[in-house]
Amino acid sequence: MRHRLPDYLAAVGVELRRNGTRLVGRCPVHEDGNPSFAVFPNGTSCGCYPCDFSGDVFATAVWLGRASTFPEAVADVAAVLGVYLPDSTAGTATRHATPPQRPAKAPEPPFVLCDGDRAQVDAARLAWADAFDGGNPIVDQIAASLGLDRETLRRAAWGTSGLGLANGWLAYAYPQGLKWRNPDPQAKPRFVWLVGRATAPWRMEWAAKREVGTVYLTEGESDCLALIAAGIEADGTAAAVASPGTSFPQAWAAMYTGKRTVLCFDLDPPGQAAAAKVAALLAGHAASVSIWKGDCQ
Ligand SMILES: [Zn+2]
Repeated sequence: MRHRLPDYLAAVGVELRRNGTRLVGRCPVHEDGNPSFAVFPNGTSCGCYPCDFSGDVFATAVWLGRASTFPEAVADVAAVLGVYLPDSTAGTATRHATPPQRPAKAPEPPFVLCDGDRAQVDAARLAWADAFDGGNPIVDQIAASLGLDRETLRRAAWGTSGLGLANGWLAYAYPQGLKWRNPDPQAKPRFVWLVGRATAPWRMEWAAKREVGTVYLTEGESDCLALIAAGIEADGTAAAVASPGTSFPQAWAAMYTGKRTVLCFDLDPPGQAAAAKVAALLAGHAASVSIWKGDCQ
């Protein structure tokens, strides 16, 4: 608030104009024919020579007769500047047994790619589409390495999360990210986020379609592709989506509102523990939640 002294003065009706490095104006306290009042070059203090006054914004509030104590001055300056004070008695000698509550944190804005990263995701998607439509053998190599047919890859490339080609190999395009799959199955890490991150499960916008009543959520994109290959989406009423790994932010649960959800996580203990956790998050959002236990139907 100290740095907003000029704003405060303007708001309480002290007219100022710039004169070199200072703001000057007629003194609001004494009968002033000349502009003898000034805000000093530091911007945080002001004064009037004939009045023998100088001080910061709070001293000024007292000098102007708008407050008689420092806490009153703080309250006045805050009110004039529209500054939120967590406790109107802050700064008084009174001490509270419990600290005043902090104002509620503003919700974080959604993560959005910068233009350069956006261009990289779009270029990867375009490269995939060109390779697929152009009969580029790289597509067949990728299909063979994943044990998939071209029809599955065609289906998976739909929408803003789909497939891309980056560094000469397959990448999973997310609405706000590009996750590259290392062609070497021994390489670590197997997957690299080239840009951005997952702001929703992979292919979630496909599952969000009204006609889709059942959503199969897998741990990772490969299992998701395997479900598509198995024909799970054949009649159009079911969709396969992937959580990028076992993480599942609580905010994603609402995306499954009204959907019958089947969690197809790994059958090992970490996979089943993650499935139980996600099931708890989805309760109250999804129409139903079941955990796949390895049975084939
Ligand atoms: Zn004066």
